[in-house]
Amino acid sequence: MNIEMDEADRGYQELKTLMEGNYAEESIAMVERAYHVARKAHGVQTRRSGQPYIIHPVAVAVILAHMGMDAESLTAAMLHDVAEDTPVTIAEIEEEFGKDVALLVDGVTKLGKIKLRTKEEEQAENLRKMLIAMSQDIRVIIIKLADRLHNMRTLRFMPEQKQRDKALETIEIYAPIAHRLGIRPVKEELEDLAIRFLDPVGYHEIEEKLASQSTQRNEFLSDIRQRIIARVDESGIKAKVDGRIKSVHGIYRKMFMQSKPRTFDEIYDIYAVRIIVDTVIDCYNCLGLVHDMFRPLPGRFKDYISTPKPNMYQSLHTTVISKEGIPFEVQIRTWDMHYTAEYGIAAHWKYKLNMTEGGKSDYDNRLAWIRQVLESQNDAVGVDEIVTTIKNDLSREEVYVFTPKGDVIDLPSGATVIDFAYAIHSAVGNRMVGAKVDGRIVPIDYQVRNGEIVDIITSSQPGKGPSRDWLTIVRTSEARGKIRSWFKKERREENIVEGKNQFDREMRRACIHLPEEQMRDFVAKIAERQRCNTVDDFYAAIGYGGILLSKIMPRIKDDYNRMVREAAKAEAPTLMAKRTVRSSEGVVVEGIDNCLVKFAQCCSPLPGDEIIGFITRGHGVSIHSRHCSNVPADIEHSAEPYRWLNAYWDKAQKEVYNANLIISGINRIGILADVSVMLSGLRVPIININSRVLKDGTFVIQCTITVDGKEHLNSCIAKMLKIDGVLTVERK
Ligand code: MN
Repeated sequence: MNIEMDEADRGYQELKTLMEGNYAEESIAMVERAYHVARKAHGVQTRRSGQPYIIHPVAVAVILAHMGMDAESLTAAMLHDVAEDTPVTIAEIEEEFGKDVALLVDGVTKLGKIKLRTKEEEQAENLRKMLIAMSQDIRVIIIKLADRLHNMRTLRFMPEQKQRDKALETIEIYAPIAHRLGIRPVKEELEDLAIRFLDPVGYHEIEEKLASQSTQRNEFLSDIRQRIIARVDESGIKAKVDGRIKSVHGIYRKMFMQSKPRTFDEIYDIYAVRIIVDTVIDCYNCLGLVHDMFRPLPGRFKDYISTPKPNMYQSLHTTVISKEGIPFEVQIRTWDMHYTAEYGIAAHWKYKLNMTEGGKSDYDNRLAWIRQVLESQNDAVGVDEIVTTIKNDLSREEVYVFTPKGDVIDLPSGATVIDFAYAIHSAVGNRMVGAKVDGRIVPIDYQVRNGEIVDIITSSQPGKGPSRDWLTIVRTSEARGKIRSWFKKERREENIVEGKNQFDREMRRACIHLPEEQMRDFVAKIAERQRCNTVDDFYAAIGYGGILLSKIMPRIKDDYNRMVREAAKAEAPTLMAKRTVRSSEGVVVEGIDNCLVKFAQCCSPLPGDEIIGFITRGHGVSIHSRHCSNVPADIEHSAEPYRWLNAYWDKAQKEVYNANLIISGINRIGILADVSVMLSGLRVPIININSRVLKDGTFVIQCTITVDGKEHLNSCIAKMLKIDGVLTVERK
């Protein structure tokens, strides 16, 4: 090797220094071997920045070394782009570095490979892949996070569109995953970098505001810190006290992403003081000291020690006000909690943490989350819901409410008492019949507010279970999932009936009609696409809410239209049964029965006019006059020929006859016009009409109209009598 160190070697040197003393000799040797393999494999490849490509894998390994990840992860990081971009194969990696490293590299490579049609699908599918990869070896996703972090740090070299795409994906997928895994510094840096690209203006606004008074801010923080240190020391507690200004993204989120946008000055969470102590008792003692020194802000105390966050985060949080009137947050935790807060799941490798709780390690608990998500995914619940769940996790505003025993439950804002019940336990939710908030009975859709004590009233008999309406009331996907799984388990027959009803209703609304046999095939295909084994399973899934019809209808309509179009093209015997079924409007549309029919506003066809039907998107069939300017002259060769349907007036429906009427009354200008307008408004065809004015100032109108029955005629006469000036209407 060249004696002179180049850029790449300098990067590697940093890694080596980091590893020395923290990793075993043979581990360091393995990483070094990987470095040389990767360097050779990437050869003269460069990054968009113009730097040699090897800079990137080295940087990823550095990030992982900072996190304290094991040597296998670092080795895999070094090789993570080798399998895809260079001739080196996974098999060769396995031979040289062992099975684990090969599996890690393979996992990371596969994660990056999926290409799908739409952005949303891509995101969802990527996420699903990640979850599966995580459930096998969580290090895959940690490496991927480090990979993304370095790519985000160098994103400015990418074209603008790519910057936005990557930044969006980062904030919607990667940062939330880092959050779920509890790796705070990675999460915060990813968010900050993403916001910088997504909203440069907003980002710099905050950055400037933070910079503008940074001296005062730092003085304020250091003053607070000194005072707390003095007081804690005095009480004999051993503690480390830090002060920091919160991340740009954290402030950004509070300013722009919550339901009530706030100005920079309205945010009091700019400062955070962190007290780290040895024992849990010390945490609560310090809390007492802090509350004694500064006035606590009501409703801001959160005990995540007794109720850890889903990502295992534990800490006491309180917001207090300094004597200058400046609020700041204080976080109090033990060292173990601190490692978990900073390194999340990575603490498993760095500190070999094993916080046993009921025999379950911290690590197992974290993996349980992933398994749970993957399981709910098998329920034919869309992947997009998982994406939503994870997004909500990050962006949600929380409310804290209490159980009657005083346990804190945190819920997203807008959560109802039902969400609360399910947050306690699915058995509580499933047997819930009502709720009391601060002692008062509240409606079932009551939204809980900070600090309220919620008492769930449960039925003593099991079996009644939740109501389907709850699915639309609840706010958390946790509650929704539990309600669905209850219906899924307990009410299969009912679900099938309910699902079939819903499905049939939607099909009618969409004007999808097929002869029975073709309909069966059509539904079977849809069911198959939804990964249901049988049509009943499909109906059941609709019934318990696992499949949302509103989501799949557009595709079904497309399929149907395509089918109809193809059948028409092939001039095969028509797919649709030409049944003469009367619609309520007295119009028969060929091939369609019992469907919403409207008359087009543009031409208002009247009985007797030549007409044609048009399948609208979602609003049934609209009936136009064949001569309407909106009807293409040559339908066969128009843009969407399959949407035009033959239609005719349903003469068979009712007895149609002409009636001669004599209308008389006091003459005024416009009386004849009023009568004819009224009749055409009722869609009553006028065969002929004439009027005479008599010398005494009265008028007589003689007209012949077409009505479809006695009742119809009577209602026309009644309406005529309401016209100003009309005194009598007689049949001749
Ligand atoms: Mn990479």
